[in-house]
Amino acid sequence: MTMEINNGIETPTIIQVKIPLPFPLRWVNSYIIRGQAGLTVIDPGLHTEEAERVWQATLDEYGFQFSDFEQIVLTHHHPDHYGMAGWFQERCGGIPVWISEVGYEQVQRLWGEDQPLTAEIATLFIRHGMDKALVEDQLIPHMMKFVEWVTPAPQVSFIALDQLFRMGDRMYKPFVTPGHAAGHICFYEESSKEIFCGDHVLPQITPNVSYIPGVDENPLLSFLVSLEQINQFEVNRAYPGHREPFNSFNQRVEELIMHHEDRLDKLMILLDQPKHVYQLCVDFFGQNLSIHQMRFAMAETLAHVIYLQEKSRIVESIHEGICYYSILESRL
Ligand SMILES: [Zn+2]
Ligand SMILES: [Zn+2]
Repeated sequence: MTMEINNGIETPTIIQVKIPLPFPLRWVNSYIIRGQAGLTVIDPGLHTEEAERVWQATLDEYGFQFSDFEQIVLTHHHPDHYGMAGWFQERCGGIPVWISEVGYEQVQRLWGEDQPLTAEIATLFIRHGMDKALVEDQLIPHMMKFVEWVTPAPQVSFIALDQLFRMGDRMYKPFVTPGHAAGHICFYEESSKEIFCGDHVLPQITPNVSYIPGVDENPLLSFLVSLEQINQFEVNRAYPGHREPFNSFNQRVEELIMHHEDRLDKLMILLDQPKHVYQLCVDFFGQNLSIHQMRFAMAETLAHVIYLQEKSRIVESIHEGICYYSILESRL
């Protein structure tokens, strides 16, 4: 299947490369940065055959060789960003792949030996009301499918968070922005006021905020706090992980904060009686979600429920091993 995706934008130093995805998101943005020491690639994409073809065509178009690259940089560990890092590294003669240390811990939990996170997420979703058969027949195989999209695994180096990071001929401030992904990093360049913001801030679509066991106990709080923090930077141009580069970064940050406040209010309205997270998910997003969409919907609703619980707006009770939530004033 060939997808019609327009070419990315190009500046004298930055080339946007759209790497196709077999999901409704359609593509992930990879960026090539030119510099005197060589080329940097940010987030090379999900490893599929089609993505390999797009990379080869891009290199041919610009007259680049794999040996022209000096480093691979990852904003976060999600497969659509990290997946091709190992493939790319092999072709470039083992150049560094930079990722945050926290991000790499997630890589190992997701796709390392025994993939421990798959079983943890399965148990979590059953405890929050998802049907066991749906988890076993669809969710687990769906999560296993990602292994081929992130293979081969790269050898990684960790980004030092307390110093500027060079990409091309410019020095960027790595800024940790958890919420969408643990260990997510945005890269801000002060003189141009440009930012590579990964999936932390996206135009038109809202970044998914997921609860993943064992890493961040309140990811929505982390997301809102890191949005407030990044809003202190004045940004003229943002290069996001999906959709197109955009200018109104600070305005978009404020819209995202408002979006989540609105979502929290809507969930409170849906809690007219005690419900588990799966029921809330179906009430909010509807029944017709693919397993891919349902997984994100569950993890996102969980993140919101945890946030409301931490704010003492709702309370949890457990019946027959399933967690139910109700508004604090109500009686079960
Ligand atoms: Zn992501
Ligand atoms: Zn992404």
